[in-house]
Amino acid sequence: MNTKIIDIHSHFNCGFKDDVPNNNIHKRDFEFLMEEYKNCGISAGCFSHFPAVLGTSDIYECNELMYKKAESDDRVYQWIVLDPRQEKLFPQVRKMITGKKVVGIKIQSLTHKYDIVEYGDKVFSLANELKCFVLMHNDKILDMVQFADKYPDMNLIIAHLGSDEHVEAIKKAKHGNIYTDTSGGRSYFNNVVEYAVEQVGSEKIFFGTDTYSCGFQTGRILFARISDKDKENILYYNAKRHFPKQFANI
Ligand SMILES: [Zn+2]
Repeated sequence: MNTKIIDIHSHFNCGFKDDVPNNNIHKRDFEFLMEEYKNCGISAGCFSHFPAVLGTSDIYECNELMYKKAESDDRVYQWIVLDPRQEKLFPQVRKMITGKKVVGIKIQSLTHKYDIVEYGDKVFSLANELKCFVLMHNDKILDMVQFADKYPDMNLIIAHLGSDEHVEAIKKAKHGNIYTDTSGGRSYFNNVVEYAVEQVGSEKIFFGTDTYSCGFQTGRILFARISDKDKENILYYNAKRHFPKQFANI
């Protein structure tokens, strides 16, 4: 089958102190990832810099850098990283969110080390007001349902599909505003994608790599035991449908 592919969730290094080491078996630099994209037919990706999701000291600067990178490279789209304990990030999010390459807010409670339930109202009320998507590293998954129900104008992607809880949260959200992505390593489970499609439908699942091998990630969907229509939804159409302005030319 022949479909376009959009990566909803990935990262790359940018030269700050919380970059991930680039080593022989896992590369994290932009040029390498773009070679991977070319090899696998991925047209574009939605990124946040590694130092912004793994550390907390350079988030503002990383967001500024990524905004510029997205302006200058057709393949780059942006998640604005928000640590709700840093007040200076709120006006930055408000200013950047209307950028034509911006797809929403990224939160990372586990690595930023705060309690997402404690700070949930602060993050999700903003997303609700801005009517935008939030991409979160999975954390306290079932607790997220109460926030999705309370803030129906936001959409929440709970990343790294790999558990029953992902599926349950999508099912339980009464406004249908919880989604997941296939990024990360856990899509190696041999029935996880198929089970999720059967339970919640392919419209709830975005494709992502999170810098793991693009050949593995795209192959996992292309060779999944699901219909071609489901594969196209995951790899391409869900991103097109939810971000029509951003991906108008893809
Ligand atoms: Zn990630």
